[in-house]
Amino acid sequence: MDKVPLLLTPGPLTTSASVKAAMLRDWGSRDPGFIAMNAGVLERLCAIAGGQGAHVAVPVQGSGTFAVEAMIGTLLPRRNAKLLVLVNGAYGHRLVKIAQVLGRPVDFMEWTEDEPVSPSQLAERLSRDMSITHVAVVHCETTSGVLNPVEDIAKIVQAQRRLLFVDAMSSFGALPLEAGKVPFLALAASSNKCLEGVPGLGFVIADQTALAAAAGNAHSLALDLHGQWQGFAANGQWRFTPPTHVVAALAQALDEFDAEGGVAGRGQRYRDNLGVLLAGMRGLGFRTLLADDVQAPIIVTFRMPADPAFDFQAFYQAMARRGFLIYPGKLTVADSFRMGCIGRLDLSHMKAAILAVQETMKEMGVASGAP
Ligand SMILES: *Cc1c(COP(=O)(O)O)cnc(C)c1O
Repeated sequence: MDKVPLLLTPGPLTTSASVKAAMLRDWGSRDPGFIAMNAGVLERLCAIAGGQGAHVAVPVQGSGTFAVEAMIGTLLPRRNAKLLVLVNGAYGHRLVKIAQVLGRPVDFMEWTEDEPVSPSQLAERLSRDMSITHVAVVHCETTSGVLNPVEDIAKIVQAQRRLLFVDAMSSFGALPLEAGKVPFLALAASSNKCLEGVPGLGFVIADQTALAAAAGNAHSLALDLHGQWQGFAANGQWRFTPPTHVVAALAQALDEFDAEGGVAGRGQRYRDNLGVLLAGMRGLGFRTLLADDVQAPIIVTFRMPADPAFDFQAFYQAMARRGFLIYPGKLTVADSFRMGCIGRLDLSHMKAAILAVQETMKEMGVASGAP
């Protein structure tokens, strides 16, 4: 087997050996041991968002997008509701697309991919458009790595008596987002990003009263969060085959998350990783898309180097040979590539990655990463 690569990507990402080992046991989906483990995982997910009591965590089989679609489909009423999506990248556009596919009234405001969405522009829009009942925002827009001011957004949405959906996929577990400080109707995230579990499960943390009122609203049987929640309430079981190994891996990942000091500890390791990545790449001439004050410690977008000897495919392959998988750009405005700093990676891995970039540039005959 080739050397197992480290994933410098935004998910799936590098997991610990112990998280992978947690999948070596088979669990019966109706076994009391699995039911207890599953209930523990859901409670802990809810606690990370400071949602105990008022909120409930409901998982869905599948990737993060399944959870986002379940969230919108279940909690955005079919009638007398309109969603406003704040867009500054591909995941914002995906929220709009989901609402359109579901046939729900939706509108959006758009900013460029290198700037956060603007709370004051949102406030202005909400005060003059009373047809909007719900707002959706992406916490860290993984397209560029930009951090959106979710706390300010939430306060405006609450003050103007609307309800907020948050796509917290790439930030959940690494950046604080607590129900007490950031009032939200529901947020969606997944097992395979900053919680450092394996892919296969998305989840929504939803206001319990709103979820209870959403019976019959969903467009889908499998993606009905109310139905899924009722299933757990009835007997602790998933309605349809659960991703048992993914749940077991997530239980282990949450133990490791707690051992690291929760959101504060994990966020600090990622910020340290980001520091090494930024300093190292800038030292080689590369330039970032974003200004540092709006850069989340999740993934960094680098502008494509101008040197004609630089070829992204060759760069990607040479990095892969050295044991690092990087990520192509997803920007619509500029040619770029991305490197993540999340997952089970520490300073030594980030330094090794910078060294690999340096060696690769030498091999390609690229003098500088300057755009
Ligand atoms: C990863 C991600 C998603 C979900 O993508 P999937 O490929 O369905 O897991 C949604 N929103 C954001 C911001 C993400 O980073």
